[in-house]
Amino acid sequence: MNERFDAILVGSGQAADTLAGELAKAGKKSVIIETKHVGGTCVNEGCTPTKTMVASGRVAYLARRGADYGVSTGPISIDLTKVRERKREVVENSRSRNEKRLSTTKNLELIYGFAHFIGPKTLQIDLRAGGTRTLEGDWIFLNTGLRAAIPKIDGIHDIPSLNNESIMELDTVPDHLIVLGGGYVGLEFGQMFRRFGSQVTIIHHGKQLLNQEDADVAEEVKKILTEDGIEILLETETTTARKAANSIEFNVKRGGEARTVTGSHLLIAAGRIPNTDGLNLSATGVAVDQHGYVKVNEYLETAASGIYALGDVKGGPAFTHISYDDYRVVAGNLLNGQHRSIRDRILPYTVFIDPQLGRIGLTESEARKLGKKIRVAKMPMTSVARAIETDETRGFIKIIVDSETELILGAAVLGIEGGEIASIVQIAMEGGLKYTALRDGIFSHPTLAESLNNVFFSWTDES
Ligand SMILES: Cc1cc2nc3c(=O)[nH]c(=O)nc-3n(C[C@H](O)[C@H](O)[C@H](O)COP(=O)(O)OP(=O)(O)OC[C@H]3O[C@@H](n4cnc5c(N)ncnc54)[C@H](O)[C@@H]3O)c2cc1C
Repeated sequence: MNERFDAILVGSGQAADTLAGELAKAGKKSVIIETKHVGGTCVNEGCTPTKTMVASGRVAYLARRGADYGVSTGPISIDLTKVRERKREVVENSRSRNEKRLSTTKNLELIYGFAHFIGPKTLQIDLRAGGTRTLEGDWIFLNTGLRAAIPKIDGIHDIPSLNNESIMELDTVPDHLIVLGGGYVGLEFGQMFRRFGSQVTIIHHGKQLLNQEDADVAEEVKKILTEDGIEILLETETTTARKAANSIEFNVKRGGEARTVTGSHLLIAAGRIPNTDGLNLSATGVAVDQHGYVKVNEYLETAASGIYALGDVKGGPAFTHISYDDYRVVAGNLLNGQHRSIRDRILPYTVFIDPQLGRIGLTESEARKLGKKIRVAKMPMTSVARAIETDETRGFIKIIVDSETELILGAAVLGIEGGEIASIVQIAMEGGLKYTALRDGIFSHPTLAESLNNVFFSWTDES
């Protein structure tokens, strides 16, 4: 017998977790189905655990640099089981809080199982505990997220490999970690494990790391990671992979030049694919693009009436805060009579390498492609008093300004606490402030925020 619900949420990602509570509070009989862990990728295999471990890597880095500050330390060693224990504890706390909230909310049921459609608005749940349930809903919300993609490389399936989840469960530091992919996931893990003591080689097929960033930003990131002792191979295609006696061998090609990269462990961080293939969306009217992402309009409505897609599974920027804002859009429109849309959102994100790359809004090249008349303010972190005092002067601040309106279009802050500085720029953008407000504002000295005065005395079009 089909069980009827007002709302069915598939996947307990960042959007659905919060939306489920709101729907239940509004009196809607709701159910949320999760196949793995409550809290989704961010809490369990993404933001929370990685940033917890990045923190351990930073402590190791600073401990090794003790002498630079006049602090004597002994030899530095890493106990990866302790790092992992700390990570597990942080994740477990967050997950169990979420689980408690979802399982004790009135009007809301949490079911562990795998959901797939068997009719336009009907889902079968293959229960973790065994057996099935069949649910029908008026509203259905897909928040099923992404998973790591495996690139098409000859032999890749025959060698042991790690992904963003399994690498955080290692109990010993790899001798030589090969990272396939120079996006933010690959860079964060690459630097983290370098700091734990691994030799690290990053293989990336693109011309630059972090494909979507301006070339000068990507180049500076490469310089920093190379300084840290990471080998970076750009424009490099892997032709074959194979397991040797005690190692993994990659045959790679750059231009006409071929070489073999040998390592002890492999991390695959070469993109992510949507969890839509198991949903049997053909039983509904929900349309997907050629990569399997659910197609939605600006209100997150799919092609099937009453079915919505939120978070990473709909394509576009895949970040926790975007998924969370998707919840606001849907909840606002369905429960609070608002007319919210995902159009014209200013996009912030931070790459948690050290120093951080904090980003907001347009890159310089995006602004130029849009035909905007722009000026670019750019200043090295070596000119920032706070960075000098803390001896963390790597990177630069770059801010893109519309030269006609004087409004800020975007920023890249590659520097200590870059994500926090970019957030200050974001507030100025959200408030419609001209760049002069930051240039002329009084910030306490010596903070990193104060750099937002001086950067605007340093334009790239003036010598
Ligand atoms: C290593 C890593 C680091 C990251 N770091 C950051 C960061 O620092 N900041 C940031 O903003 N973002 C980060 N992200 C991205 C971030 O984790 C995601 O954007 C965020 O979790 C939003 O995901 P979501 O809400 O779309 O779904 P997810 O959080 O991916 O949740 C989807 C859930 O659906 C479940 N599911 C899938 N299919 C089914 C099914 N058929 N039935 C039932 N359940 C199903 C899955 O098990 C999963 O729990 C990181 C990602 C990775 C991989």
